[in-house]
Amino acid sequence: MRDNSLLIVGSIALDTIEIGDERYDDLIGGSTTYATIAAGINSDIHIVGIIGDDFPQDGHAIFDKYAANKTDLQIVAGKTFSWGGHYGENFDDRDTLFTELGVFADFNPVLSPINKNHRFVFLANIHPGLQNIVIDQCQGNPVIVVDTMNLWINTTLNELLIVLSKSDILLINESEAEMLTDCSQLDDAARTLIGLGPPTVVIKRGSKGAILYNENERIEIGVYPIDKVVDPTGAGDTFGGGFISALAQGKSNTEALIRATVLASICVEGVGVEALLSASNQEIDKRQQFLMEQVTS
Ligand code: AMP
Repeated sequence: MRDNSLLIVGSIALDTIEIGDERYDDLIGGSTTYATIAAGINSDIHIVGIIGDDFPQDGHAIFDKYAANKTDLQIVAGKTFSWGGHYGENFDDRDTLFTELGVFADFNPVLSPINKNHRFVFLANIHPGLQNIVIDQCQGNPVIVVDTMNLWINTTLNELLIVLSKSDILLINESEAEMLTDCSQLDDAARTLIGLGPPTVVIKRGSKGAILYNENERIEIGVYPIDKVVDPTGAGDTFGGGFISALAQGKSNTEALIRATVLASICVEGVGVEALLSASNQEIDKRQQFLMEQVTS
């Protein structure tokens, strides 16, 4: 496939989210899920992943709607990967309550012929060993965009470094960038990260926006102002899905950053994926216009 389709691999999960005293169980989540909804609004998404036979119907309905191709979505007997997170009052910190691998423990992503030749591949957050298995099956030199998390920096650094050496664009949080490079200055951290392989690095700064770095560009973008953050879960994955889908549509890095930021701003306005599922193109366009004026003024 050499059109505007793109491949996404990552986690598909049932999330438990605690926000202050509120608790939400078995929400449809996972890095693939958020990224697929964000990217599936305007692109043909092929997903690679695994779920158990407990995965609920409303979860299947999401992938029926947003994923054009599910050939490599494995559905096996057992429990879907589940993850729990707790946020304190101001969302600054998130504690992981539990991570239960379930069917993820034996996941071996095997790409069908139709999925070996995409122009764009998003390695959403999962074990870098799995990200590597997917990269090694890709043909035709795709643009590989990779996301990760502090867990992998701490526990599987060598495998992560191999992934980075084969990737084109790294999306990473500010704190993770600092952890990986030992640099507290963002510009220094970005330069060090580029030295690890990916020619382009995007540092995500939460409520402070994001900065893209490569040899020719340093593009800084703020956030779209919203009234209230309801649940920040999945904002990074949504950012990634929005970013790569814009690139797959032939947009510039600035336009990709804007789309990523807009979709993330919608994601955090609801619990789990709920706000993202009801995002209208009109609202997305309005927010993109606002940010474009900020960048160009
Ligand atoms: P974010 O808020 O962008 O960091 O993404 C949160 C999502 O990542 C949740 O829906 C989780 O299911 C998923 N997640 C959390 N921990 C892991 C992990 N170790 N591997 C894969 N996905 C994870």
